[in-house]
Amino acid sequence: MDSFIQTHEPVIRLTAFFAIFAAMALWELRAPRRVLTVSKPRRWSANLGLVALNTLLLRLVFPVAAVGLSATAAGRGWGLLNQVTLPAGVELGLAIVALDLVIWAQHVFFHAVPVLWRLHRVHHADLDYDLTTGARFHPIEILLSMLIKFAAILVLGPSVVAVILFEVILNAMAMFNHGNVHLPERLDRRLRRLLVTPDMHRVHHSVAADEANSNFGFNLSLWDRLFGTYRDQPRGGHAGMTLGIGRA
Ligand SMILES: [Zn+2]
Ligand SMILES: [Zn+2]
Repeated sequence: MDSFIQTHEPVIRLTAFFAIFAAMALWELRAPRRVLTVSKPRRWSANLGLVALNTLLLRLVFPVAAVGLSATAAGRGWGLLNQVTLPAGVELGLAIVALDLVIWAQHVFFHAVPVLWRLHRVHHADLDYDLTTGARFHPIEILLSMLIKFAAILVLGPSVVAVILFEVILNAMAMFNHGNVHLPERLDRRLRRLLVTPDMHRVHHSVAADEANSNFGFNLSLWDRLFGTYRDQPRGGHAGMTLGIGRA
């Protein structure tokens, strides 16, 4: 099973990417949350150009990628989860939740350390907010993220399936929670008990420093609540708030 998934990893990831991209793009057209201010072709070509560049760069610099490393770690017994025997579902859940915590901490770190913020501000420099914002990252941030993921895999020892599933979920959730979509408030509230919703993450893209330093999560809303960085709504409201980079 693991080797089948590992072999087909690029196909699984690409299929998931295109399916979710198409679904979110249609949803944004049907029920937009905000009026976009910058020309869409210009933003989309910049954001998707970065995606293409980053994808290529990752494959060139790290040909084995995270999946290959998790297979090696499993074979050699490296990492906590490769040292213990747990039911497969429990192990999968633990691995995904732990990897999500790593991503959350990494995001906080990229805001707190000035040299890292200079990379991460590319993500915040988008003056509009839609599904392509979720893929807009400086190439060096993408490479550093991969190194952090490698370290997490070596310490944690997640299975190949867990790593692929996590990457597909993260990719899907990044497109979802950057979506310029309108969710009914009650549904948003319900989803937010567990997951990061578009309204929750949009607060993080505010020019106001206190709002930008909140809601760092990508998948689970738990970490921001747990570590005191949760902010329910932007002061100016979702339609009125200003997106972008504030004056530090
Ligand atoms: Zn950020
Ligand atoms: Zn974001």
